[in-house]
Amino acid sequence: MNNFSKLLLSVLTILLIIIYLQNVSLKREIESLKNKIDGIQKSEMPTSSLGKKLSEKMLEEELKEEKLKEEVIFIGNSKTLKFHLPYCQWARRINPANKVYFKSREEALKRGYKPCKICNP
Ligand SMILES: [Zn+2]
Repeated sequence: MNNFSKLLLSVLTILLIIIYLQNVSLKREIESLKNKIDGIQKSEMPTSSLGKKLSEKMLEEELKEEKLKEEVIFIGNSKTLKFHLPYCQWARRINPANKVYFKSREEALKRGYKPCKICNP
């Protein structure tokens, strides 16, 4: 073997080692990327199911309110002492803590509540 071929062989060996090392680091990068993607998917799963649960709960609340509207004809505000039709925009703005429900206009009037001037219950 002459000197030139020896040099060529060593250069080739070094190149092979470099390629091998790059390959290993590339594989590691791919692995870490895969892990990251897995982590993202895993962290997204509970939040989406939580969102589903939340929307289900909201739907339930809405249904409850719908049912309440069927039974209750008037909604009063214990702070302003005014009563409204359930679909009145002002009835919707009443703080839930101040909401009072009446089944009839007379009941509301008897308790000292005045009819709202906008929805005219
Ligand atoms: Zn009203």
